[in-house]
Amino acid sequence: MRFADVIGNADVAEALVSMADTGRIAHAMLMYENEGSGALALAIAYVQYLNCSNPQNGDSCGECPSCRQMSKLIHPDVHFVFPVNKGPKTSDDKPTSESYMKYWRELALANPYFTESDLQRAIGIESKNGLIAVAEARSIISRLSLTAVADGYKTVIFYLPEKMNQETANRLLKMVEEPPEKTLFIFITHSPEKVLQTIFSRCQSIRVMPLTKEEAARVQEMNPFDDNSEYEMFMELFADLMRAVTSGDLQAALECGESIAGLESREKQKGFCTFASQCIRKIFMIQQNMSQIAAVAEHEYEFYSDMAGKCGKGFCLRFITNIEKVVAMIDRNVSSKILFCDLVNRMYLSIWPR
Ligand SMILES: [Zn+2]
Repeated sequence: MRFADVIGNADVAEALVSMADTGRIAHAMLMYENEGSGALALAIAYVQYLNCSNPQNGDSCGECPSCRQMSKLIHPDVHFVFPVNKGPKTSDDKPTSESYMKYWRELALANPYFTESDLQRAIGIESKNGLIAVAEARSIISRLSLTAVADGYKTVIFYLPEKMNQETANRLLKMVEEPPEKTLFIFITHSPEKVLQTIFSRCQSIRVMPLTKEEAARVQEMNPFDDNSEYEMFMELFADLMRAVTSGDLQAALECGESIAGLESREKQKGFCTFASQCIRKIFMIQQNMSQIAAVAEHEYEFYSDMAGKCGKGFCLRFITNIEKVVAMIDRNVSSKILFCDLVNRMYLSIWPR
């Protein structure tokens, strides 16, 4: 990404170029923004500029080998760290950002203005909190201790350092304080007050301003990336399944089960399971009179509250236990046709016991 491609915050871009041109490069920098304002785009453009072998007129060339690697986010000396958790899209028991790098790249390349919830959806951990855990610190320290592959800067772009716990920060602190030569840390935060003081105090901070209405519209236009399509497809499947089960139509429910088993990959099938668990949690919250924390979209409220009335209290908890088993079995290569047929049967019996 070149500065020319960044929308908004021309002043910040100018300041970054001037820092690079005059050699006043901060080894640790903290960019703070309201989410979606483009700090990541600016950070990527800045690192691309620093590493470009032929920068011109205050921007990277976009054509040299380093720029080409940056344009795919595969530069070997540029590392990304972001909050993660265990989820259906990785089999790693202690996942780090590396475990999800493929999904991060897809998301950031399609739309570097993504929000935290876009990221959670992209890596399949919607129902969990993302964290930057100590395994991440170990991974970063070992990668930074390797010699740079190219001639430029080794950089770590940290998305949401506020999700880092004390132990992780302690591990990283020495490196942030006294980074190896030509090593940069760029932190991007949405809540600077939550960034651990030990890290914050060592950074030069930069405010990234919210986009104007026109700029936000351009972001929208430039990124026809439709991350809602999977959501809508899953929602339709889930709603059909729930309506069939609650109305006592076992045949229709089994057909929904077959459609889920027919999703093109195991990852998609597990993705659906995660999605369905979240939906069921919403129903459960409504049943518990906690709809204010169920976070149900207005246009979906009628559906959820209808379902909350139709399935008994034990249904949700049984469903969550059952679907967790399904996810584990998918990983063990059990036939998904059998798994989802069994799940549908259990759901049905849970409401219509024989
Ligand atoms: Zn270049």
